[in-house]
Formats: sequence, C-alpha cells, structure tokens
Amino acid sequence: MFATVTKTQSKAGIDHTSAVPRTPFFLTTSKCVTRFESGLILYAAHGELKLTSMAAAPQTHILIIADTAVIAKRIRRLLERVHSASYTSVAADKAKEVILASDFHLVVLVDLLSHNPNPLSLLFNIQKHINVIAFDSLAEANARQVASQISNAQLNLVSVLPLPCPNARLQSVMERMTDDLQAGKLGQTPRSVGEIEAAIAQGLIIPWYQPKISTLTAELTGFEALARWQEANGDIIHPSTFITVAENHSIIHILTRQILTDVITQLRDWWVDGHEWQISVNASVDDLESDDFVTWLGDSIERAGIPGSALIIEVTESRVSKNFAVLLYNLTQLKKMGIGLAIDDFGTGYASLQQLNRMPFTELKIDQSFVTGAHLDKDKRVILENSVSIGHGLGLEVVAEGIETGEDWWHVRKCGVDIGQGWFIGRPMAASSVLNWVKDWETRAEYFVDPPTLTSQLKRWLSSWIRH
Ligand code: C2E
Ligand code: MG
Ligand code: MG
Repeated sequence: MFATVTKTQSKAGIDHTSAVPRTPFFLTTSKCVTRFESGLILYAAHGELKLTSMAAAPQTHILIIADTAVIAKRIRRLLERVHSASYTSVAADKAKEVILASDFHLVVLVDLLSHNPNPLSLLFNIQKHINVIAFDSLAEANARQVASQISNAQLNLVSVLPLPCPNARLQSVMERMTDDLQAGKLGQTPRSVGEIEAAIAQGLIIPWYQPKISTLTAELTGFEALARWQEANGDIIHPSTFITVAENHSIIHILTRQILTDVITQLRDWWVDGHEWQISVNASVDDLESDDFVTWLGDSIERAGIPGSALIIEVTESRVSKNFAVLLYNLTQLKKMGIGLAIDDFGTGYASLQQLNRMPFTELKIDQSFVTGAHLDKDKRVILENSVSIGHGLGLEVVAEGIETGEDWWHVRKCGVDIGQGWFIGRPMAASSVLNWVKDWETRAEYFVDPPTLTSQLKRWLSSWIRH
C-alpha cells in the first residue's frame, strides 16, 4: 500500500519507521481531495482549499508504546491497513522523554492493564496535549477501566479498541480523529498567559467565520465568529489552547474586545456591500459581568453605523456566573440595544430551566454532542428533540451545531431545528474566503431543501453542459 518504508534503529532503543506514504494520513480520509498528475494535491483544511505538493503535505506522527518490537510491529501493520503515517515505537520507560522531545498526533498504548510499569504513571501530568488510542486484547471486559485510567492521567482518550480490531472499526476511529485534528480539536498544547498576551498585542488572534443556515429555506442567515490564532509560519492555533487560559487569567476581556472590534469592522464592510448578515460572537460570562462591557459595545456599534441586530452574543452555559444579578442586568441592556443573545452548548452546562427562563435569550444553541450522529443514537435523539421543544416553548430560535453529515442535516430539519451549523454546510473560514464560499453555497443550497435525486442530478449536469 505504501511507496517506501525506511527504518532506523537508534541507540536508545527507539524505533523510527518513517513510512513515506503515497497519500498522507489525513488526506486518505478527506472528503474533498484531488490529486493531480504533477504530484500536487488539492485539499480542504480549516475551511479553505489548499494546494500543496505531496512532499509538503502535513503528515501524522504516531508513537506506539509497546514492550517488544514484535508487538509494536503488529500494531503498526494494523494501523497501516487503514492509514499511512510516520511511526515511532518505544518501550514504556523511555516514552516520556520521546514525547517531550517531539510532537505526536497520536500515542498508541497496548494492553495497558497488563503493562509493567504502567506507562500512564510515567506520563501523568506531562503538561502536553496527548491523544491516545488504547488497544486491548480483552477490550470487552477492560474498556471502562482502561478509559478511566487514561482520563485520570489527564490524557485525551480517542478510543479503546479490541485487539485484533476489525478494519472498519479502526478506520472509522481514525477518520473521526483526522477530522478533529483538522478542526484543531486535538493535538495542540495549551499556550501560556505570556504567549497569549503577546499574540493579542500583535493582532495574531482574529475571527474566522462559520456559516449558519436556515433549515427551512437553506438561506444563509449569518456566521459565527470563532477565534483563530494565526502564527507567522501560517500555522493555525485553535481556541481550545487559549480561551480557557485567557479566562482563568483575566485576559479574556482584551481578547473578546479585539474579536468584537474585528467583527464589527467586517460587519460594516459587508453591510455596506448589501450583505446584511448577522454575526454571532462568543463572550465569556466574565465579559458580560464587567462594568463597562455594555457601554463599550454600544459605542462600538454606533461608531460603525450598524444596527444592534447585526450582532448576536453567545454565552456558554459551562461557566458559572459569579454575579447573576449583574449578568442579568447587562444581558437585558444588550437586548434593549437590539443585540441577539444565544445560550451556547445547551445541555452541557449548569443553567437551570428557571435561570434560562429569567435570562433574556433570543436563541438556543444545542451542543454538537447531541446533534452529530443523533439519528443513530436514541439518547442523543431524546435530548435533541426535548431541547428543541424547550427552546420553542420559551420563544427562542433553535440552532443545532455539529451537523457533520447529510443524515445529521435531514434529522435536525425533521426535529424542527430552525438554523443549522456544521462542517456539512461549511467549516470556519477566514474573512477573505467568505464571499467565494457564499457563491459556491448558492449553487448547492437547493439540495439542502430537496435532496438530490438521480433525475435532478442529471438535469443539473445537462444544463451546466449546455451552458458551457
Ligand atoms: P462554540 O462556540 O460552541 O463553537 C462551535 C465549535 O464547534 C467551533 O470550535 C467549531 O469550529 C466547531 N464545529 C463547527 N461545526 C462542527 C462540526 O460539524 N463538527 C464538529 N466536530 N465541530 C464543529 P472551535 O472554533 O474550536 O471553538 C471551540 C470553542 O471555543 C467555541 O465553541 C467557543 O466556546 C470557544 N471560542 C471560540 N472563539 C471564541 C472567542 O472569540 N471568545 C470566546 N470567549 N470563546 C471562543
Ligand atoms: Mg459559540
Ligand atoms: Mg457551542
């Protein structure tokens, strides 16, 4: 399956196997890839199409922690059947130093419970974001214990899999992981306060935009602004590595205002050009409890000459309010200015229904964990359906985030969700990509209302053939 495999055995007993694959790991599963004869590849990443050469394409690095070379080789073969990557294998007692020395997208553990010494005791509190897949010969009996040991060690568990493992199961786990890696959910280490402060000061943290679509008409209603930290070398750092740190060190106010300032400028430009979209911006509860936030925001939108209704402020349920009365007062002031107010990640946090009822929200966003794959999972379905009725019962617009597939889209429509957001519609993208995305959307929006049939596809193909 792979073109070349080179292998070197280092003195420290670390086995680096660098498979130079025909198709890099993340591309094997990408849904939007074209490979040209010249060796150039067109691929989708972070909401944008990128052209790269085979050699420059990003590749996944996997570390296998195994007692013996035989086991390491067996695991590598298993993984290679569904994905290509570069592999390093190491014994448990050397794992920490190898992990600290370089970045791996994934660490693979084998039969954790019978491992001696337990690699988790060595990796505990390693201060690095580590994604783990654990293979276990007795997965049925051990899965829960393995999962809880990995989570307790502060590592990010991707999956516990049986050994031997069916190809289809392994492939679906790896595809899911690849998507999450591309979305920046995995594999990035939290940033320090100093780094975040410097990035804010240099204007490196900017909003990207993810479309929101009416489920009834498939019309674009607006975008959610999501913070992205763009490094000088082009790398994109995702919010999971800096938002919580910024919140915990009281610098979230600066970040939120910087994002809002950018969004308001962008909104003014779009509105002037006749694109009257609504942009949702995430704010922390701490922002909304600060004394001057409302006045600052009011002044900013007035200066830009845009109406309050062009903005929606999203507040996540997961942060506890320190001063509920102030929060309530400030939200009410924002609503008086015409600004929309959304409760984000609904279903995951602490808000009681009574609190929800007292807050002047206009929109309820159902967390993606109850949306993605809900048609296959009864528990998710029940929560999704009930969230829709709670939202509608309170007179709120209901948004579903995490629409990853056509099945998710048709399902949320059936459940009565008003607005959809997710990778199936569009990934977050830089402001410079938005107008092109909108043009493309206009050519495919009709299929989000009427699913394509063979006849409609043929008609579409025929009319475009006649046009050209
Ligand atoms: P959120 O506000 O709930 O934003 C939705 C998240 O889901 C985004 O992650 C988005 O990229 C991701 N997403 C969208 N569609 C899909 C999908 O179909 N499947 C999956 N698996 N994920 C999808 P992102 O951009 O990494 O942001 C994560 C969280 O960071 C946000 O969750 C929000 O709570 C926080 N955040 C982002 N930007 C800001 C900001 O400017 N200020 C504050 N305070 N928080 C922010
Ligand atoms: Mg949000
Ligand atoms: Mg959310």
